[in-house]
Amino acid sequence: DVILEENVSFKELFLPQHILDGLEYHNFKKPSPIQLKSIPVGRCGFDLIVKSKSGTGKTVVFSVIALESVNLQNDAPQVLILGPTREIAVQIQEVLQNLGQFMKGLRVQYFIGGTPVESDKLNCSDCHIAVGAPGRIKHLIKDGHLRTTSIRLFVLDEADKLMESSFENDINEIYNLLPDKKQMITTSATYPNDLEEFLSRYMLSPTHVTAELESPLLLGLKQFVKPMKRCNTVAVQMKNKNEALLKLLAYVSFTQCLIFSNFQTRAESISNYLNQHGWDSTFISAAQSQKDRLGALASLKDFKCRIMLSTDLVARGIDASSVDLVINYDVPVDTMTYLHRMGRAGRYGSSGVCITMAFEDNEMKVLRNIIGAIGGVNLSIPVLPDVENISLD
Ligand code: ADP
Ligand code: MG
Repeated sequence: DVILEENVSFKELFLPQHILDGLEYHNFKKPSPIQLKSIPVGRCGFDLIVKSKSGTGKTVVFSVIALESVNLQNDAPQVLILGPTREIAVQIQEVLQNLGQFMKGLRVQYFIGGTPVESDKLNCSDCHIAVGAPGRIKHLIKDGHLRTTSIRLFVLDEADKLMESSFENDINEIYNLLPDKKQMITTSATYPNDLEEFLSRYMLSPTHVTAELESPLLLGLKQFVKPMKRCNTVAVQMKNKNEALLKLLAYVSFTQCLIFSNFQTRAESISNYLNQHGWDSTFISAAQSQKDRLGALASLKDFKCRIMLSTDLVARGIDASSVDLVINYDVPVDTMTYLHRMGRAGRYGSSGVCITMAFEDNEMKVLRNIIGAIGGVNLSIPVLPDVENISLD
């Protein structure tokens, strides 16, 4: 197994029995390297900056620490966890709920935009752990619904995303409404240089924990590029990519597949195209209602569909463990996005394939820069073999 080189079980971390039971129930026996390194430090109350590749189990890191820190006798919210998308918030809530199922009376709630605020207001006063996206959480705190006086752990999942300008004000405001004395944990697979400066506004001499090997690439993941001829009009370009896509899906074996486009409308139209050509697919986009977004994601996780089209809405954080093929229909805008998209396959050390369709010249150039920035062993990614005689093992 790529990921489990350590031979320590969760038992040896001396966690409380109810948490061990929750881990056992999940069939989580051994901590991943990042879990092994950060859980003991986090339990001591230190501020943590956790960095490790996608799919290495960072959710369990802060979930275990959060569950241990909750006092069930106190009815007020004691842990606040923020994530950049509503879907990630829901996913975190599920993990906490499952791991915490042996803690009698534990209540974990998520608070996300796009759902009625009225029921949120009631749930606010009835939870120990609150998980949410920044917008709704800020709203609930400012309006006095979500009490913060008992909060002693503040988590930023996908911290580098939360640091971006669209979230910055919300995070600032929320932070200022929390008690001074609290523990803070941030996690991400990618930490750009200016994140340090951002975090120094919030955290005092935090402990950095990483379980990185030399390169940020996932070990079990193979990358390929599918070069495409340039053509004159966007319509012809899309037609060619659509046809190439059908071939890929037919010849590359996969369990579940995520296809990324840079454009919302394109994600939807590619999904329609696939449906017309015998490949049932669904799509997820920020233009959908929250109910549709969660529905699309659930159908992927519950295996009701094998193929999902997406924009970068689900490029990060989302854990659908059977996704083993990621196709970049459009070359991602930057290196971070490439890494996050690719990280949707190869969850927890499983193997996967990432294929990027790139037009010669323009898109190829962007892709080369991306690969160059990742560095590591290979500065180039192999061209996909002729799909007719493909074997990616
Ligand atoms: P990250 O946030 O680092 O991208 P996640 O927390 O989403 O990763 O976890 C990725 C997958 O690994 C999930 O499906 C999770 O259930 C699984 N996982 C996490 N920890 C363990 C463990 N100790 N043993 C087995 N599977 C685990
Ligand atoms: Mg995560």
